[in-house]
Order: sequence, then structure tokens, then C-alpha cells
Amino acid sequence: MFDNVKKEDQAAYELILAEQLRQSQWMELIASENYQSPAVLEAQSSHFANKYSEGTPGRRYYGWQENTDKIEQLAIDRAKEIFKSDHANVQGLSGAAANVSVYAGLLEPGDTVLGMDLTHWWHLTHGAPVTFISKVFNFQRYKTKPDGKIDFDQVRALAHEYHPKMILAGFSAYPRELEYDKFAEIAKEVGAIAYADVSHIGWLIAWWALKNPFDYGFNAMMTTTHKSLRWPRWSLILSKWIVSNPLKKPEDTIENIPTRIDRAVFPGVQWWPHMNTICAIAVALKEAQTQEFKNYASQTLKNAQILAQELVSREYQLVTWWTDNHMVVVNFQGTSIDGSIAEKALDKIGISTSKSTIPDDPNPPFRPSGLRIGMPAMTTRWVKESDTVKIVDFMDRAFKNHDNEEALKMIEQEVKDFCKAFPVPGIIV
Ligand SMILES: *Cc1c(COP(=O)(O)O)cnc(C)c1O
Repeated sequence: MFDNVKKEDQAAYELILAEQLRQSQWMELIASENYQSPAVLEAQSSHFANKYSEGTPGRRYYGWQENTDKIEQLAIDRAKEIFKSDHANVQGLSGAAANVSVYAGLLEPGDTVLGMDLTHWWHLTHGAPVTFISKVFNFQRYKTKPDGKIDFDQVRALAHEYHPKMILAGFSAYPRELEYDKFAEIAKEVGAIAYADVSHIGWLIAWWALKNPFDYGFNAMMTTTHKSLRWPRWSLILSKWIVSNPLKKPEDTIENIPTRIDRAVFPGVQWWPHMNTICAIAVALKEAQTQEFKNYASQTLKNAQILAQELVSREYQLVTWWTDNHMVVVNFQGTSIDGSIAEKALDKIGISTSKSTIPDDPNPPFRPSGLRIGMPAMTTRWVKESDTVKIVDFMDRAFKNHDNEEALKMIEQEVKDFCKAFPVPGIIV
């Protein structure tokens, strides 16, 4: 691969090789990163990249869409089947773009959205004060209780006080299963749309390892595709029809949720589809239907639980004390280090993680109390339970020796040797 780049641009070629080396020599434990398969990477560089295709299959502006229509329809049909939705829009350029489309399609300026509180693992796209979106809609916030579970009494009280148009369930570092039935019940009480941003757990939902919001009355759901799903950087917006007029098929009612989402994606906010990425998403959705992918999902959960168990047995505090999904958030409050020092110590031994706030974090965002660790990427390299114990051992020693450069250098070499046994798909070094 990359022979043509090598011929035409030596500088870019060398950077590609350097990045390959970095990815295979080191350990990736950032919960939102993963490795794409060679087939998906190949599909992403296909000649579909040359085509403009605004619109949806069968309803495009430019002509000559016979192949683009078919490849997009393939992705739509597979996404609907896997996520048990009535409709799929596969044109969202990223999670952020998809969230903007969902707000634009389902809300009017000034409408209220009830979402998660700032320090409680929300995402920037859920109405952060620095964003344009926060000027358009009114975001109100619920919190978690001291045990880390969502405070549904507060969600209900706020819903009745503010009458939101949308109740948003979605998080970037929440390690536990969600009670979608309670969100949906409250949404129904106040006539709000129930929307789940499952960017981090889409693939666990695809394999029924975690609950599917649609089984509990949710109207719409969005997942990114590059995080735990290990696909290209993209997103899927999935939704259910509402039968609002019994005399018409929901597909023919222009005010329905799926239609409003399609129209928001294009022409609403104008995300022109990248057909090469949609082609790669179709291939990835096919991979997701295999037994191998199912094994991958269940192995990730096993590894994450061993990770949690081993950290607890070494007396680290975890937020919510456990994990139900692929990530663990360590709370360094009351210790001599914080999330930022912990992240830097791990960087030095070749383990990549990300600092994270914890609920009501007393520390500032650039020096938060928590560290988020996720197992999806290393499980793609087929790390198993006993290997995860070794990983915790590396981390434990790095935290304890965070100010001892010599000790960190020695652990770094051990991490490099460890990684040799777990190649990155498609990278031969
Ligand atoms: C990552 C993430 C997003 C944004 O996805 P991008 O593809 O990075 O734009 C949105 N919501 C949640 C909950 C996320 O974790």
C-alpha cells in the first residue's frame, strides 16, 4: 500500500510510515480511538470519492447516481437492521455534525433541550456555552447522584419546570448502563422527543451487549462510527416513525422525525455526503454482522471489567466503582496526583489515555481529577484478560513512579516489547 504516494511525495510517505510505527509500537487506551480494518480503509479510498451526490438514494440533484444510490442504500439497510430502527441517515460527517442536524431538524430556535450537566461527562456538542448551538437553543441540565447514577427525580422536576422539546441522554465518559425507560417515560409526560447520543457505545448496542434505546420508547439515536465501532470518522442517525396521521403512511408525512432529520442534513445544514466514506461504512456494517465482531464486542466488555477489577484491587478509586461498558474512569482525588499527571506518566511509557473530569470536579478542566481508560482499541489487537492484568500493572507502576524518569524509561521498554505480540490490523512493521 502507498506505493504511489511514495513515488510522488516522499515527505508525506515518510509521515505515513512514522504514524504506522507510532500506532503499532504503543498502546492505545483512549476510549474514543480504535483501528479500522484493511477492507474498510481500502473502501474509503475508492473512486466514489469523485462523485457529488446531494440528496438521498433515488432523489439526487446530479445525475449518474446508479452506483452511489446502491452503495448508500446498502449502508442504510444494514444500519436499520443492526440497530432495529425504521430509518437511517448515513450522511452525518461526524458525531458533532449529526448532533447539529438532529437539533436543526427537530427543534425551533429558542426551544429547550434537557441534557447532562457540564462536569458530568456531557459532550461539547450538547450545548456548551462556547458553541454557536448554545446561542440558538436553551440547554437545561440534570446531574448524577453521589453514587454516579442519574438523578431521575431531578430530571422529572426539571422537565416539568422547563417543558423541553427534547430530552437528551448521551455521555462521553459514563461507565454505566442507562435507564432509557425512565428517560422515555419523563419525555412522554412532558411531550418531549427522547434522543440518545450513544456515540461511545453504539457497537455494544448493535450486539445487544447493552440496551437499545429503541426498545424503551426512544424516538431517535445517534452513534459515531470511529470510536468503539472502529469504522471511518462518521456517524449514523437512526430514528423511528411516529404515526401522527392514521390516514397516511408515516413515510408520506412530511413532519415526521426521519424526514425532518434527512432534510436537516441536506439541504438544512448542508452536509454534502462523502460517498467514499459511505462506501466504507457499508463494508464496515457488513463486518459488524459477523461472529468475529460479536466476539470482539464481548471480549471488550470482559477486558474492561478485568481492568476495573484490577484497579480496584490495587486500591484505585473508580467513578461509580465499576463499569458496565468499555471504559473506566479513575478518580485521583485524595491522592498525590491528578488526571493530568497520570496521563503524562502513561504517555512517557507509551500508553495513550485521556484526562477527564469527574462529576462536580473541584479541579479545573485542564487539570481534572479523573483519567478515562477504554479497552476497544487494544481489544481490536486481541488483548485478552491476562494481558489486561499486565496492562494494569504497567499503569500502576507508572502512576507510582510518575516523577522517576529512569523507572518510566524501563517500563516504556517493557510496553514496547508487550506491543510486539499484538499487531495493528493492516500494519506490517
Ligand atoms: C465523540 C462524541 C461526539 C462527537 O463526535 P465527533 O465525531 O468527534 O464529532 C458527540 N457526542 C458524544 C457523546 C461523543 O462522545
